[in-house]
Amino acid sequence: MITGCGGCGHAMLRHAQNIKAAYSCRYKFSTDDTACFAGKIEVDVLKNIVMTSIQHLYDIVADHKKAVSIEANPAAIDNLKQLQSLQKEIDNLTCHKLDLYNHYRDGELIKGEYFIQRKSADEQIKSLTSQISLLEQKNWQSVNEAVANNPIYEAMKDMPYPAQFSNEFIKSLVDSVIVYDESRIEIKWKFSDSAIAELLPQ
Ligand SMILES: [Zn+2]
Repeated sequence: MITGCGGCGHAMLRHAQNIKAAYSCRYKFSTDDTACFAGKIEVDVLKNIVMTSIQHLYDIVADHKKAVSIEANPAAIDNLKQLQSLQKEIDNLTCHKLDLYNHYRDGELIKGEYFIQRKSADEQIKSLTSQISLLEQKNWQSVNEAVANNPIYEAMKDMPYPAQFSNEFIKSLVDSVIVYDESRIEIKWKFSDSAIAELLPQ
């Protein structure tokens, strides 16, 4: 993650203090008046801020996608309901798998039985996931025409459910993070504000 000082504009220095890694500006003690960020900010804290912002953006895209789908095809509302219930089933199965593991770990389930039940849950999840991608493809067709060139859509097009923000994905969205102080942190996206505005409700 490229992290810049809001005062001097230089990339910040990443260093480990005790266990926690943090960023600070190496020019903060320079004599010229650059209004550098004077403190340190933990890498984990910054990462959380970035993740929250990406999640917010993801929600904007998801809401927009819903609205456009329904506008283009009123029947899409059934698709969306179906999508939601499929996603809920996957969530339930994921919880179920965790329960199974806990029972197995606590000796309430023998190994053979645990593996059989886990496999069955995995197969159900796999089948649900492929139903979801079919439905998603259907919905995409109408959405694509509405925002053919929106870079945020393009970046989030192949995002799996549930949303996974891999490092590669973050890099594709975030240009840099500018720290003015602990409470004023700006994320510079790789696309313009108007690309975001295009997705906000009218
Ligand atoms: Zn600085």
